[in-house]
Amino acid sequence: MRTIVIVGGGAGGLELATRLGDSAGKAGHARVILVDRWPAHFWKPLLHTVASGARDPQHCEIEYSAQAAGHGFEFSQGEVRAIDRGNRTIELAPWIGDDGREVLPARRIGYDKLVLALGSVTNFFDVPGAAENVLTLDSVAEAEVFRKRFVGACIQASARKAQGEPDGAAVNIIIVGGGATGVELAAELSHTARTLAKYHVHALDPVRDVRIRLLERGEYLLPHLHRRLSRRAARHLRSLGIEVRTNTAVASVGPDGMLDSAGTRHDATITLWAAGVEAPALCATLGLSVNRLRQIVVGPTLQSVSDPDIFAIGDCANFVCPVQGVVPPRAQAAHQQALFLAHALAQRAGAPPPSFKYHDYGSFVSLGPLAAVGVLAGTVKGRKYQVGGAAARLIYRLMYRKHLLALHGFARMAAHTVADWIRARLAPSVKLY
Ligand SMILES: Cc1cc2nc3c(=O)[nH]c(=O)nc-3n(C[C@H](O)[C@H](O)[C@H](O)COP(=O)(O)OP(=O)(O)OC[C@H]3O[C@@H](n4cnc5c(N)ncnc54)[C@H](O)[C@@H]3O)c2cc1C
Repeated sequence: MRTIVIVGGGAGGLELATRLGDSAGKAGHARVILVDRWPAHFWKPLLHTVASGARDPQHCEIEYSAQAAGHGFEFSQGEVRAIDRGNRTIELAPWIGDDGREVLPARRIGYDKLVLALGSVTNFFDVPGAAENVLTLDSVAEAEVFRKRFVGACIQASARKAQGEPDGAAVNIIIVGGGATGVELAAELSHTARTLAKYHVHALDPVRDVRIRLLERGEYLLPHLHRRLSRRAARHLRSLGIEVRTNTAVASVGPDGMLDSAGTRHDATITLWAAGVEAPALCATLGLSVNRLRQIVVGPTLQSVSDPDIFAIGDCANFVCPVQGVVPPRAQAAHQQALFLAHALAQRAGAPPPSFKYHDYGSFVSLGPLAAVGVLAGTVKGRKYQVGGAAARLIYRLMYRKHLLALHGFARMAAHTVADWIRARLAPSVKLY
């Protein structure tokens, strides 16, 4: 029996393991093993809602072991630190528990086919001081650190205000990068600042005292969307009291602020860096062909161009689609590639390998709990439709439901939707502790 190892249980990897386990795993045609450094999956496009406190991550995490038991695959927790391509094994670092003790020593797992679905990490573009002084949104743990720092900063500033310190009330939040992550977080944070005031967690003016500034190097926010939608998003953010500065490139970052390339200083209580992503450092150590963002170069079968036993999907892969061009690092790309590989890897030996084609179905960006903007593409005669307001918000929400549908099937997805609806009515709208 073939052993298919999938490293990374994110948007692409977990869906692939689930589909492949349900088909080849349950039928006994292949042993499917999923490896991830964490015990549970969290859908990354929701990370900004964890950072703002709008979502408790525990309510939407999926435990890998439980998913594996129901879907015919195995799960092994650990961080992959090397791959021995000659002997076709991956090497996992020792697994250290929360109390600092070793749970499992370093291990090796053999494979016949290996799928790398490692995702991406923040790209600091070598800006001096950025890596040392900013927070990032690469994982649930990092989003939680941001949330706690934000709530703490508001409480401290409120105490300074009560003592009458001049300008002591200011909380300066700088978000670097006006792409989807930066825009979505800015809008959510503005809502959180207001809710914290309503709960009397702080006594600040949520607009005047909690200053949220979004810095974007380019001329427009959301450069992947139409200019009209970029302007609409900027208008919406400004209406929330968020300062939007385009054409502002960060030159260096310090512990309490940064300098832009024009020499202007921007004070920051907290800086969040969301200026772009690159593939994890591991990708560049495997002897596989990679691009300048360390993404593994793959052909139309999603096999590495350097090793036919290794496939790469999602953010860590570089595939240039003949029709759509470079496939962007998006959840919809990871989903389509998982779907494609689930069929391709389940095929019997000797069948001609199919070719992957990327379809761009559009892109949506949340502007807080009530608004969104985006483009719906290719659904009717290949046309693109610009969508905003409540309709965009509904479509944006459906994206997560679609992910749950792929992992759980209709009945459990519907049950999750009802549970989320009830929870939203019972729990405070911002997670505080
Ligand atoms: C705040 C935010 C908002 C976003 N919004 C959208 C959106 O609206 N629409 C959209 O299409 N996309 C969005 N994205 C992008 C989207 O989340 C990614 O494109 C998608 O998650 C990529 O899926 P993936 O499977 O490649 O990687 P991921 O989902 O990142 O999963 C990678 C997995 O690999 C594991 N891993 C990494 N290295 C190792 C290792 N060495 N050993 C073991 N395990 C490892 C990680 O723990 C993780 O579980 C957003 C991203 C962010 C951060």
